Amino acid sequence: MDQPILQVKSLKKYFDMGKGEMLQAVNDVSFEVQKGETFGLVGESGCGKSTIGRTIMGLYNRTDGQVLYRDKDVHRLKEKEKFHFYRSMQMIFQDPYASLNPRSTVKEVISEPMQVHQLYKSKKQERERVYQLLEEVGLNRDHANRYPHEFSGGQRQRIGIARALALEPEFIIADEPISALDVSVQAQVVNLLKDLQIEKGLTFLFIAHDLSMVKHISDRIGVMYLGNMVELTASEELYENPLHPYTKALLSAIPIPDPDLEEKRERIILEGDLPSPINPPSGCVFRTRCPMAMDICSKKKPQWQEIDKDHFVACHLYENDIPKTQGNQSPVVHIQGR
Ligand code: SF4
Repeated sequence: MDQPILQVKSLKKYFDMGKGEMLQAVNDVSFEVQKGETFGLVGESGCGKSTIGRTIMGLYNRTDGQVLYRDKDVHRLKEKEKFHFYRSMQMIFQDPYASLNPRSTVKEVISEPMQVHQLYKSKKQERERVYQLLEEVGLNRDHANRYPHEFSGGQRQRIGIARALALEPEFIIADEPISALDVSVQAQVVNLLKDLQIEKGLTFLFIAHDLSMVKHISDRIGVMYLGNMVELTASEELYENPLHPYTKALLSAIPIPDPDLEEKRERIILEGDLPSPINPPSGCVFRTRCPMAMDICSKKKPQWQEIDKDHFVACHLYENDIPKTQGNQSPVVHIQGR
């Protein structure tokens, strides 16, 4: 493999909640992203995936660990380096409406980062670039003088993508970019991102709460649960050979397009809420909801290990020296047929 463009090493991000309480949003997470790759980060809301995105962008300071972008520690960049960093890494946000200034026209929204970075010498050049970006994302130049409220959710997300592309970045963090959109529009936005990636050689960190769309866009996928990464492998391998009980539950929730197979699909429904990241369970953080929990799971944190080539998992079920005795907690799990 080539040298990765992004390396996240044992990253921790805790938030001080006062009165001695720490919210452990991200706990010892490591992964790498190769240039031109789409790396999907998946998990329920509150699992820490968006916090990872924001910490990588330098919007949050890290608590421990390191984020290296092109071998440079993003939390120790000098002012001049920061300027280049923010040009090469951009973010697309979940809520396209909230992330666009309602008082600015589309042209102003897209050209603002160009002006901050003084990309163009003349207003005409800048305007032409805005038109070009609008066309690249499937809108047209007539949209430039309108305001965000005049657009549908899908169109607003296209405007957000055009703005993210304005500085010609090489790396984009897409933080739940399709969650707020209708299902019919989600595929269009995912296809647009895929096309742009091929055309411009972009690298993506694609953050999402369910696996269904991520599968279509990601080369590799990391599954997060309560601030921890529990499984990481190539997208196809994750779908064909999921190992972690949490990944299996997430996959079981995806509808199958074939009506016969869909009829037989068994869905694993995990009971209970995500535990508080202020006071996470001891041992394995998933043990309070895991259908496979054993005695050891409450006592010892599972190791992050490579089970097969490039297939990593953190679960005692795959550790050879762990006794597989049934735990005395009994998480309630329903397996539903259709
Ligand atoms: Fe379940 Fe134990 Fe594996 Fe955690 S370590 S996922 S509780 S079997």
